[in-house]
Amino acid sequence: MLDIKITRTATPKEKPAKGQKLGFGKIFTDHMFVMNYTEGKGWHDARIEPFHNISLSPAAMVYHYGQEMFEGLKAYKNPDGQVYLFRPDMNAKRTNATNDRLVIPQIPVEDFVQAVSAVVDVDRDWIPTEPGTSLYIRPFIIATDEFLGVAPSKTYLFMVILSPSGAYYESGLAPVGIWIEDEYVRAVRGGIGFAKTGGNYAASLIAQQKAHDAGYSQVLWLDGVDRKYIEEVGAMNIFFKIAGKVVTPSLNGSILPGITRNSVIQLCKNWGYEVEERKISVDELLEAQKNGTLEECFGTGTAAVISPVGKLRYVDDVMSINGGVIGELSQKLYDTITGIQLGLLPDENGWRVKVGE
Ligand SMILES: *Cc1c(COP(=O)(O)O)cnc(C)c1O
Repeated sequence: MLDIKITRTATPKEKPAKGQKLGFGKIFTDHMFVMNYTEGKGWHDARIEPFHNISLSPAAMVYHYGQEMFEGLKAYKNPDGQVYLFRPDMNAKRTNATNDRLVIPQIPVEDFVQAVSAVVDVDRDWIPTEPGTSLYIRPFIIATDEFLGVAPSKTYLFMVILSPSGAYYESGLAPVGIWIEDEYVRAVRGGIGFAKTGGNYAASLIAQQKAHDAGYSQVLWLDGVDRKYIEEVGAMNIFFKIAGKVVTPSLNGSILPGITRNSVIQLCKNWGYEVEERKISVDELLEAQKNGTLEECFGTGTAAVISPVGKLRYVDDVMSINGGVIGELSQKLYDTITGIQLGLLPDENGWRVKVGE
């Protein structure tokens, strides 16, 4: 249990107006959570402060070798006026899996959840309530030692910042076009693909630019060894419905273990679908598309929840999926998960966690 010191801002910012387009990750609330780590002392000085710029030495290790991690989750205001998080314990556990790989100290699961809840509670009036909006929560840790040697840092900062956000895709739940990348790879087994860390994103930018230039909104990565098995999308896991079965790549070490992915698998199983976690080759998709059994494709992630895919491009092939319109299962998953998050549907799996008293 953290002892969190709270300093409230004396100069609150103006909140976004009702109906204002929020975009994603552009607006920040009045406060942030901060906690330091010092070797020998552990995590200390948990506090909530006014949102402000931070000052670090230009030699701070995070700037040079990228020892950092991040998480992403959301808070929602329900019709009862209460605020809820969605499965924050899963983010806490994944933080520690990432930290383990990057030699960053562990944070107790209950401390992580307490930190997130506390800062959300302080800024609860910033949670937007228009359809499709939520408060995006970004916990992250950076290595702060002033040192140019390559070694794990002995000091860290853990922070949580909050951003009222609109729908992730400006075009809404309309199906997107996806570029299957055949030149660059994102991650390899034994590397950091399963960890939520900036390095994976830095490695992905060039392909994203390539995809955008060609008119596609996201990149779908292939495995780094054979370059023929499906891995995941930029910030989403990927699912297919093939001949009635729900199929997604297995967690092989180079794929990020998404919490939305986990929720989707659980819901599909509850609904009686056969769910397969296995290797999926591009050839299998091309074949399924030709014989008419590639019924649906969608991405899963906290930001967009469910992102239907209407078009998949691989080298010279462009596969149209479900006539470019959203599939029945994609829509049902979106409605169910957002319904649970918003408190419009019963929370049968115990996924919602209340913030505050
Ligand atoms: C965060 C992330 C996801 C989605 O994970 P969720 O927990 O569902 O938000 C998928 N892929 C990558 C690379 C990610 O960073």
